[in-house]
Amino acid sequence: MMALPMKKSLIASLVLASTSFTLPVFADTQKVADIANRIEGDVIKWRRHFHQNPELSNREFETAKTIAKFLEDLDLEVTTGIAKTGVVGLLDTGKPGPTIALRADIDGLPVTENTGLPFASKAMGELDGNQVGVMHACGHDTHIAMLMGAATILTEMKSELNGKIKFIFQPAEEGAPAGEVGGAEIMVKEGVLKNPDVDVIFGLHISSDKDVGTVHYKEGGIMAAVDPFKIVVNGKQSHGAYPWLSADPIVTSAQIIMGLQTIVSREVELIDSAAVVSVGKITGGNRSNIIPNQVEMIGTIRSLSPDTREHIHEAVHRKVNSIAKSMNATAEVTLPLDYQYPITYNDPALMREMLPVLKTTAGEDNVKLTKAVTGAEDFSFFQEEVPGLYLFVGGKSRDIPASEAPGHHTPEFKIDESGMALGVKLLSNLTIDYMKNH
Ligand SMILES: [Zn+2]
Ligand SMILES: [Zn+2]
Repeated sequence: MMALPMKKSLIASLVLASTSFTLPVFADTQKVADIANRIEGDVIKWRRHFHQNPELSNREFETAKTIAKFLEDLDLEVTTGIAKTGVVGLLDTGKPGPTIALRADIDGLPVTENTGLPFASKAMGELDGNQVGVMHACGHDTHIAMLMGAATILTEMKSELNGKIKFIFQPAEEGAPAGEVGGAEIMVKEGVLKNPDVDVIFGLHISSDKDVGTVHYKEGGIMAAVDPFKIVVNGKQSHGAYPWLSADPIVTSAQIIMGLQTIVSREVELIDSAAVVSVGKITGGNRSNIIPNQVEMIGTIRSLSPDTREHIHEAVHRKVNSIAKSMNATAEVTLPLDYQYPITYNDPALMREMLPVLKTTAGEDNVKLTKAVTGAEDFSFFQEEVPGLYLFVGGKSRDIPASEAPGHHTPEFKIDESGMALGVKLLSNLTIDYMKNH
């Protein structure tokens, strides 16, 4: 009986209390939506240009030129040549406030396009000395276009904003060519997050298997850390007929591989965060009747929380060394082997703070809590330095079942371009909201 009047007065006081705060944010959201709708055709046009002219990692020369020219035309302060082909545009509102970075990756892949689209890529590039087809088969063309859209909106709204915005166009997310370095790690080393110092960074990835209009988030680890490893098992060679004269590195390696599999299944608290230990290659020996003196294997570790990552690294060393010792062999672990990606880690406090922005931008029903992914992203290098959020935005037509959507990195990879508008709005609204509240 008492509930109704109490409810009414509670709602009234909530509305009153929030009026002064909520209304301006809503007005901004509306303005962002209006401009995003107005420029949607341009965003699609930009995307098709990049789609038709993809370039491989660390070879994004023309892509970078086009982006730099675009940012200059917006009157931003433009820096080029960061991590080889990276471009940054700085928008300074002239008013004090935080510095927010928005990031798009810009590289294509060595994939020959087979979509039949009128703007399909016919581009070729050089990979390891061979000519290969090149395609934006991961959707980074949409990332460039969406960030250009956000840059357009935020520049147009400059007089209403405070602080600074860095638009980071990053090369080589898919990995630098053999013998080269590149990507986010190098951008960070070259100081992209300094001068002015970035407070927070936002980035997103289009998904070919998620519905247009939806945004997918997760606090904490959303994509895995990658730690490749090498194990060399040294034994003692003998005739295959007299194994008692050997310290057999092949049998030792078999035990090591099985031992490694018990790390995740028996030591990792899987209800907290998933992990993977995989051996991908093993080599040793040269004929049937010789027990060799050495076996080598390489593999990869994927983890989604810093604690799990540390635990697995310790366990790999412990298992390998104790198993080798029990077999009268020795073993060396090289971990990391050649490169490492950190966890793409969404700062929990920031994620909770920004969740309402996702809801006002996409509509409550279109904001989905997602599962973590055991693939990796070099956006994680930015997040190691400053708090950041990485989100997935839908790029699949709603009338195609997810199971039939062509996967990323395949020749048939396709994006429904109507999904880009949400990405443009999200990048803009996250920036504006953070500025208003910090
Ligand atoms: Zn990719
Ligand atoms: Zn990608």
